[in-house]
Amino acid sequence: MVIKQMKCRKIKKLLPLYIDNALTFGEKQIVEEHLKECPTCRAQLKSLSSMVKIIESLPEISPPPDFTEKVISKISQIKS
Ligand SMILES: [Zn+2]
Repeated sequence: MVIKQMKCRKIKKLLPLYIDNALTFGEKQIVEEHLKECPTCRAQLKSLSSMVKIIESLPEISPPPDFTEKVISKISQIKS
């Protein structure tokens, strides 16, 4: 379904912000609604959040605030 695929692309862009808890209330609801019905984006969220955990658990670097987001968006670009 074309419409759903377009939505997936939009959701994938929002996922890093979702993990960072940086979405507006409305956007967050859109993402959560979509995740309920889309196993692809759920898998994407899962791999992104485990990536974030790895980055955050690295004790020796203190990345700039937007570092995680940049890494995630790079990764998402590679995957899609
Ligand atoms: Zn999706």
